[in-house]
Amino acid sequence: MTAAALHELGVAALGRALRAREVSSVEATRHLLDRLAAHERLGAALALAPEAALAQARTADDRRAAGETGPLLGVPIAHKDIFVTRDLPTTAGSRMLAGYLSPFDATVVARLAAAGTVTLGKLNCDEFAMGSANENSAFGPVRNPWDPARVPGGSSGGSAAAVAARLLPAATGTDTGGSIRQPASFCGVTGIKPTYGVCSRWGMVAFASSLDQAGPLARSAEDCALLLSAMSGFDPRDSTSAERPPQDYHAMLLQPRAGASAARPLAGLRIGLPREFFPAALAADVQGALQSALGVLESLGASLVDVSLPRTELSIPVYYLIAPAEASSNLSRFDGVKFGHRAAHYADLADMYAKTRAEGFGAEVKRRIMIGTYVLSHGYYDAYYLQAQRLRRMIADDFQQCFALCDLIAGPVAPSVAWPLGAQDDDPVAAYLADIFTLPASLAGLPGMSIPAGFAASGAGAGLPVGLQLIGDYFAEGTLLHAAHAFQQASDFHRRSPAPLGAAGAR
Ligand code: GLN
Repeated sequence: MTAAALHELGVAALGRALRAREVSSVEATRHLLDRLAAHERLGAALALAPEAALAQARTADDRRAAGETGPLLGVPIAHKDIFVTRDLPTTAGSRMLAGYLSPFDATVVARLAAAGTVTLGKLNCDEFAMGSANENSAFGPVRNPWDPARVPGGSSGGSAAAVAARLLPAATGTDTGGSIRQPASFCGVTGIKPTYGVCSRWGMVAFASSLDQAGPLARSAEDCALLLSAMSGFDPRDSTSAERPPQDYHAMLLQPRAGASAARPLAGLRIGLPREFFPAALAADVQGALQSALGVLESLGASLVDVSLPRTELSIPVYYLIAPAEASSNLSRFDGVKFGHRAAHYADLADMYAKTRAEGFGAEVKRRIMIGTYVLSHGYYDAYYLQAQRLRRMIADDFQQCFALCDLIAGPVAPSVAWPLGAQDDDPVAAYLADIFTLPASLAGLPGMSIPAGFAASGAGAGLPVGLQLIGDYFAEGTLLHAAHAFQQASDFHRRSPAPLGAAGAR
């Protein structure tokens, strides 16, 4: 197999090539490690573990020689640097955790390793997963492989960029308010945020615990299904983990729907279009790509129905009260005592806390800690936090009303394509507002996907990928993946890759 052909393979295809002994895990691992090193300027990787990865690849090859099979055996991946790992440092994109080595692996990491994946390294992300552009990482921004002058989205920007640039077949990510779906959309890859509780949060550095959820980013829905089957499942170490038997999402993705035919695989599927998801202000390029994607879904047999999520706009203030409130509590553990950074010079204990946190946290993290502490404080709790919780419940109820009328909901992932690096430096609220279409499903704890749906046709962002968001009811990951797979059998947006970057990562 030629080297170029090798990195074009996604998870399922690489799994088949490994099974057919067309390539070994060691060869694939070496090739992708070289690619990661050659694309340093993208900023996607924070740490690589060549020796450990090659040792894992040799083990995978031995397991296969001993007769073991399994779709992920020997497949190289990498993890968002928010999952703790025993063999690689974990930073969560923060100076606070620079050099931190966890004594254990996150459940998601351990499960993927047990399935035979090879861990190449850790991927860049916004500090403590706070952001929408990956510009909040203490270790520098990530560039969008479709246009290195633009952001890859965030907070799982390193994961999305690495998968898009064909440095990896797949990567893990986390999504609190859109951080899998939005970078997947900006980078033209496929990502799924499962129902809250499907993937264990054990060993995921906590941002907002009632919202944080892990999921895969890959080239296709099929590849996501393979990863999600391995990553997910009940974990007694996470008290919010859903107690369900293991799920075979790949089988669900392939299982024909009752009443469907080969030509109309989505016959009988009702897709709801919330009118609030298609405002006049939506970028024309996004609108255009979405309309043609919806036409493809219809041609596959799905019917489109009008629905309403009347509190869509309120999801922004609700999320930006609840997420910082939880973050301010979760981040109180970074005090210079137990782990992470500690200021070198201080007068007394209080001064040590203050200096450590002043030095360790970046501006966005500090902003959120201040907002969170404020809204939880005496006298403001009822006015802000409690109100937000009430609205969160109403937003979840709105979805249930929609799901009485439809099986899935479709809409944009973001109001625009990827924006230029630095464009929102002086205006954090602009980035918050761009989360409008991903926050509702997060607040409701529902599963959501982003799938490549086209490319901007004109303007400054011409040629940049546009994602279609699909949202399902609780635990409807199988329906989501099935619909996304049917769409990807009928379209080729997910197969297109950005033009190769030059030697040092420059065009
Ligand atoms: N952009 C959102 C935020 O900044 C979502 C981040 C996420 O999902 N981790 O909080």
